Amino acid sequence: MNLNQHCWNHEEREAACRCPACGRSYCRECVSEHEGRLLCAACLIRITANRQPETHTLRKLAPPAMIAAGILLAWLVYWAAGAALIGLIHRMSAMRGVRTHACSVHTPVNAECFSADQDA
Ligand SMILES: [Zn+2]
Ligand SMILES: [Zn+2]
Repeated sequence: MNLNQHCWNHEEREAACRCPACGRSYCRECVSEHEGRLLCAACLIRITANRQPETHTLRKLAPPAMIAAGILLAWLVYWAAGAALIGLIHRMSAMRGVRTHACSVHTPVNAECFSADQDA
């Protein structure tokens, strides 16, 4: 079979066949059989990539899953930070309470406690 053309990749070689997908002529080395058709390397990659719906859907589903995981992580960090902050505020207010009402006898703090502080 002589197409009177040269291989798209090899100018010095005569084309042995034509890629049915892109219509370019190639030598026998530049094409490979795929489902009974001789395709060039570029078309073979393109077609085989398109004919893998599993990886395609996985790639499509990956970003939403990543976003969901990110939101969950952010929420957890936010929750942990909030809990830590609340704990810190409680601790600080407790410490302040100890300092202002430094009376171990009168707890909870009442008028007697304050008068005792004033006397001292
Ligand atoms: Zn092709
Ligand atoms: Zn070639």
